[in-house]
Amino acid sequence: MKKVALLTSGGDSPGMNACIRAVVRTGNYHGIEIIGVRQGYNGLINGWFSKLGNQDVSNIIQRGGTILQTARCDEFKTSDGRKRAFNNLKNQAIEALIVIGGDGSYTGAKIFEQEFGVKCIGIPGTIDNDLYGTDNTIGYDTALNTVVEAVDKLRDTASSHHRLFIVEVMGRDAGFIALRSGIGVGAEAILVPETPTYIDHLINKLETDFRQDKSSAIVIVAEGDEFGGANQVAQAVKERFDKFDIRVSILGHIQRGGSPSAYDRVLASQLGFEAVNALMNGRSGVAVGLVDKKIVYTSFENAIKHHQELNQNLLKMAEILSL
Ligand code: ADP
Repeated sequence: MKKVALLTSGGDSPGMNACIRAVVRTGNYHGIEIIGVRQGYNGLINGWFSKLGNQDVSNIIQRGGTILQTARCDEFKTSDGRKRAFNNLKNQAIEALIVIGGDGSYTGAKIFEQEFGVKCIGIPGTIDNDLYGTDNTIGYDTALNTVVEAVDKLRDTASSHHRLFIVEVMGRDAGFIALRSGIGVGAEAILVPETPTYIDHLINKLETDFRQDKSSAIVIVAEGDEFGGANQVAQAVKERFDKFDIRVSILGHIQRGGSPSAYDRVLASQLGFEAVNALMNGRSGVAVGLVDKKIVYTSFENAIKHHQELNQNLLKMAEILSL
């Protein structure tokens, strides 16, 4: 193996840069040229390539985002687009591809590999932590810490004014950020897409809290909750219970940014390092992950088919701890 392309795809997440650095330095250590591809599969189709040396990735381990930039690329979903991408790789004698992204990006890599025989390795990079085949995805821990820090600040003002804050966090399909951040901030309630939301139950609980003179209340809502986002929940609570001064806070894209946590930097470094090792050992069509502190490889097929399960016991625990 002499030349490997590397790209980041889908939504960005903090720690992607630490992973890029690890791939580049591991590759160069073994005499493999790492070619950085800009803007995800777009760059693969348009030939936006540049060779990455060790110096090119210095001083990025602590930076959020991705120096390679990322993109969503509909053209890669067409066989014409993928053919152009393959021709670019062939012209540059690039034999393999490492993709840092989510399950959409894995799907693209899987199809590409099947069509053209280009060896592909996936690395889980998304703040949502919804990928099968790893305990944590790169960026999840940082996003959690960002949410906890923000909600702690909301709690200060909520307590001073005896307010109820309904806070919407990211998670269109998955409640991992909501669940763990909710536990971390001692939320009065946590609403996630994986379980039904009983709005009456929520309102009864908030009423009880209010009667018991709790000085503030925080409800964490994942954006994909079946009842709706924070605005819908606030509306429903307001209609039934007007005693609380209710405020909505939608944390939005701050959850994607920022300097990666120590945990994410180490995880990203390990997974980048192991992705290169995997290629050298002849692996392909797999995503690398860390499960119970051990490196594991999951076929793209399984990683795409399955989803990480939300720990329902933690949800029950959170309910008891918020009484
Ligand atoms: P994520 O990787 O974070 O899940 P997306 O679902 O947006 O993000 O996917 C990222 C990119 O992967 C898409 O913009 C597209 O280029 C590629 N991709 C996703 N699904 C397919 C598919 N079925 N065929 C080919 N490429 C795909």
